[in-house]
Amino acid sequence: MKNNSIRELNIDSIRADTPGCGSILHFNNAGAGLIARPVLNAVIEHIKLESQIGGYEAADAAEMAFENTYQQLAQFLNCSVKELALMENATVAWQAAFYSLASRFQSGDRIITSEVEYASNYIAYLQKAKCSGIKIDVVPSSETGEVDIVALENMIDKDVKLIAITHIPTNGGLVNPVADIGRVANAASIPFLLDACQSAGQVPLDVEVIGCDMLSAAGRKYLRGPRGTGFLYVRQEILESLEPYMLDLHGASWTEYNKYTLRTDTRRFENWEFNIAGQIGLGVAVDYANTLGQQAIYERISKLANSLREHLKTLPSIIVHDIGREKAGIVSFSTPVIDPVSLKMELRKMGINCSTSGVSSTRLDMVRRGLEVLNRASVHYYNTDEEVRRFSEALTTLVR
Ligand SMILES: *Cc1c(COP(=O)(O)O)cnc(C)c1O
Repeated sequence: MKNNSIRELNIDSIRADTPGCGSILHFNNAGAGLIARPVLNAVIEHIKLESQIGGYEAADAAEMAFENTYQQLAQFLNCSVKELALMENATVAWQAAFYSLASRFQSGDRIITSEVEYASNYIAYLQKAKCSGIKIDVVPSSETGEVDIVALENMIDKDVKLIAITHIPTNGGLVNPVADIGRVANAASIPFLLDACQSAGQVPLDVEVIGCDMLSAAGRKYLRGPRGTGFLYVRQEILESLEPYMLDLHGASWTEYNKYTLRTDTRRFENWEFNIAGQIGLGVAVDYANTLGQQAIYERISKLANSLREHLKTLPSIIVHDIGREKAGIVSFSTPVIDPVSLKMELRKMGINCSTSGVSSTRLDMVRRGLEVLNRASVHYYNTDEEVRRFSEALTTLVR
């Protein structure tokens, strides 16, 4: 277990460390979090080094900084360095795990997923259903919106070959009960793939507590890393039986004329070429999160988000759409007064960033709730009560 002792976050110094905080009100952290100065500096320093001494030579010189990213992630997830791969985004990380597993699925095999599954994942299930005749089964949600654990237990049989769940959906603050899902998966010895793209850096993650076998996430969202970074965790026990669905000379070595040998760690899913500056920056971003403490981060985010929800609920023409018993930092809402995209653009003119989330990103969930497009305001720990108030005031003037 990690040490989750709660530290008091020094918001003033965190904001001073975040160049963007001085100029914009950023409530689009579910899109991309604002980069902290140490991350910015690390990325720029490495690019400079590449320009001065050459890209390969700079990589040699920065080997320690690059390896630091694995070490920080291992601490962050409570796993071993050998269980991690650095990828270019969350989708590629997720696909590496999914398609490698799915290459052995046969007609009639079942995948269990949730109603809030992210579109890219669901499209991959559909593709496998089309090509291999697998069955996609969606666990119903409880009244409050989470995966219904009893329903999940009742769906388990020998044909279930994968449980793949989104921790926090892209379109709201719902937090799925992942440790309970992990218990069901482990009891039945079914691989459990967790999409932690929105939860990494927002909700405490510990792969031992969750019991997931594979986990994918992005660097740019709540971890505040550079764009074009992501990572994959694969548990050692499952790794040994998992052949990557695509391989290069980094994931495997060409050891004889007609033979290759796989790497023994999760880096078998990586490619040879890296955005080294970006991945070094990701390591600094994860270090930043480790230093602040995941529990402190989570408490600050959920407090601000709940405060934002309360403010929005007092506005007459705003409807808050979040579901879930426990809610994290993504606040979804709509108004009959302005369409979501125009509202987003009006706010941007006022120096306020937020985004929208449409039916095609989380179709099952949006259709069942009769929703087409939502506005999405996603707060981070560096946001403030004052920004929550300013956001609500800006909305008040726009929906009047
Ligand atoms: C953003 C998101 C993804 C995709 O992440 P990329 O880094 O853009 O590939 C996957 N799942 C969820 C839930 C997301 O919100």
